[in-house]
Amino acid sequence: MSQISARLLSLSESATLAMSQKSRELQAQGLDIVNLGVGEPDFNTPEHIKAAAIKAINDNQTHYPPVPGYPELRKAVCERLKRDLNLDYEAAQIIVSAGGKHSLANAILAVINPGDEVIIPAPYWVTYTELVKLAEGKSVIVNCDIEQDFKMTPAQLEAAITPRTRMLIINSPSNPTGSMYSAEELEGLAKVLRKHKDIIVLSDEIYDMITYGQKHASLAQCEGLKDQVILCNGLSKGYAMTGWRCGYIAAPLDIAKACNKLQGQFTSGICTITQYAAIAALTQSDEPSRKMTAEFHKRRDLVLQLLAEIPGLKTSTPPGAFYVFPNVSAYLGKKFGDKVIANSMDLAMYLLTEGHVATVAGSAFGLEGYIRLSYAASEDKLRTAVERIKKALAALK
Ligand code: PLP
Repeated sequence: MSQISARLLSLSESATLAMSQKSRELQAQGLDIVNLGVGEPDFNTPEHIKAAAIKAINDNQTHYPPVPGYPELRKAVCERLKRDLNLDYEAAQIIVSAGGKHSLANAILAVINPGDEVIIPAPYWVTYTELVKLAEGKSVIVNCDIEQDFKMTPAQLEAAITPRTRMLIINSPSNPTGSMYSAEELEGLAKVLRKHKDIIVLSDEIYDMITYGQKHASLAQCEGLKDQVILCNGLSKGYAMTGWRCGYIAAPLDIAKACNKLQGQFTSGICTITQYAAIAALTQSDEPSRKMTAEFHKRRDLVLQLLAEIPGLKTSTPPGAFYVFPNVSAYLGKKFGDKVIANSMDLAMYLLTEGHVATVAGSAFGLEGYIRLSYAASEDKLRTAVERIKKALAALK
């Protein structure tokens, strides 16, 4: 009998781990691998944010913080939500956690009972389904392919709802596709959700600052819907702060209190130094974030232009995040020597071992027939990577 709980045994390892492991092995053998598999900005945290953290250390801000975050930080989050989305929240509705992932985990564990259904449009970020499993809920996956720009329609939402539906998870801008819902598209979903007041929306907005011309919108802005929405965000992506671990939710008060209770027993308040850095990030200049986004914008255009030269790939034009998610079906079923490239995982492995480019298989995100490329890499690396991908794909027969 296993020593490990059934709950944990049901969890999958991150599907990207096998790829990273293989990538590291090849690098250790001295091969030059271009890594487009990563999910983090290749920029460093802005100086003024680091300075605030150093000051916090020197000021001995090193004691236990309040579980949901310092009042000043929760207030800064409220001000940010007012400024960016014109949403009114009280500080009591904000819970700060150790990264967006921790915020999502709190929210799902706070709301989902065993057997509850959670609607998740695919492709989705890998962690959602695993957290739902941890809460003993059931993920209901709705396929949204490139033809619909990877976005769920109101009709699809309506069709997926059953009496057991408890939650809908929406991620805009999206990882892995970079797609974004417009305010009009969200209103379409809101019309369905207003008829189902007991469905909670978990809205993951962690890429909200990384957008190219399209304004970020949230379901929480739709009339009458805010009390059904847990808005989840964090500083990892927009401020290049992945290692600091700061995420937050803005939620109906009872859900915020439940998350606070869970966090109080589980992890307590997050690192004090990070909290002071986060206050600086949220209240001071966003200029470094804007510059970083402008750089990502250039790279997105470059990658799209380079990918367009590869026959058979179908690509959308993502208005946000730093990923492209090309459809690679034209290459599935082809062979390299005797080996059939049957699915996206085979293709990602082939691109890694023969092309020396790390990507992530679409199947990791619940949608077969695609691969994810991250363009959080220098222009030189992007050029080299796409050139290698092109050559490797051309070698398939
Ligand atoms: N949500 C999405 C869609 C993400 O891509 C990520 C990180 O990759 C997260 C949440 C979690 O971010 P954090 O690093 O703050 O936990």
